[in-house]
Amino acid sequence: MLPGPVQEALQQSLVDFEGQGISLLSLSHRSERFDALMHSVQTRLRSLLEISDEYEILLCGFGASLHFSAIPLNFLNEEGVAIYEMSGYWSDRAADEAEHFGRIWRFQAPLNVSDAARQQGMEVREQMLGPELPAYVHYCSNETIDGVSWPTLPDQWYGEFPCPVIADMSSDILSRPIHLDAHAMVYASAQKNLGITGLSLALIRKDMLGQARSQTPRLLNYEVLADTHSIPNTPPVFPIFALEQTLIWIEKEGGIAAMYARARQRSDLLYSFIDASELYMNEVPQLLRSLLNVPFALRQPGLTDPFLAGAEERGLLQLQGHRSRGGVRASLYNAMPIEGVIRLTEWMREFEQQHG
Ligand code: PMP
Repeated sequence: MLPGPVQEALQQSLVDFEGQGISLLSLSHRSERFDALMHSVQTRLRSLLEISDEYEILLCGFGASLHFSAIPLNFLNEEGVAIYEMSGYWSDRAADEAEHFGRIWRFQAPLNVSDAARQQGMEVREQMLGPELPAYVHYCSNETIDGVSWPTLPDQWYGEFPCPVIADMSSDILSRPIHLDAHAMVYASAQKNLGITGLSLALIRKDMLGQARSQTPRLLNYEVLADTHSIPNTPPVFPIFALEQTLIWIEKEGGIAAMYARARQRSDLLYSFIDASELYMNEVPQLLRSLLNVPFALRQPGLTDPFLAGAEERGLLQLQGHRSRGGVRASLYNAMPIEGVIRLTEWMREFEQQHG
């Protein structure tokens, strides 16, 4: 969901960009105005996410999925090994792609385990790797499809494990603090909390640059992206403007702290409703539940389609679960007002009474 003011700014920019008599879509990326736009985006991101000068901010004209390939090409050499923490659908896709380029270990993410089990997991990792240090460890902070989120950052587990940590934060960036210092790289598609599709963001610690394999395509080489200030070729001007407008909206709304508070409020309301009901269920352990994506199922067979149809009639749209999982999924990104969740729970209550 896009915030209303962002949608209006995009609409206006198409017809007449800042009173210049031309559409934003006609703006040259070689213009001073575009330079100012890039500067504005970088400055706002640095401030909102507290990004230090140690990190490059890269705007990439592709989605998170292409980072799945770019990451091993940039950071994993032919002899090395990388760890992939498996927590759901997207971490699995990232590992599948990395496997084309090098040796990886897939580990079950130490998410819902006791301290003893976690310790044992770390020992297994150390034994498997022997004296070899992994090139990096990759994890997905919020599994969009499974509704699973890491409760704390993996650096807590990798404190004794000195290797770069890389996170796919596509579906939770800008909804909570990110502790960037614990990461060598954080990346995210734009179309959830950063505006619209056609763009992704990569924050990379500068000392990580310069390791890309020689056959790495130029546009996937993070060092090239840094050296060209994210303009290695014609950049996607419209999604970059959408990002700027989204950042301005977040600033006005109170920044990350406000986004985080709202995310907790929205998801608390929905989870407590689900947990109290006899019809709906979410099986993700409490500690791991996502604040952004709430998948749930109906316990009685045959009721999912009528539930979704009734929801649609009430203006509650796009609630069907991912095609790989079925069921229902409420995606509660930054722009979703609490009223959206209230209306959803009202419909859930009414439907449960009808079929109780
Ligand atoms: N990672 C996560 C966590 C996602 O949610 C998505 C998309 N929903 C992707 C990666 C893939 O992003 P894209 O489609 O922009 O390549």
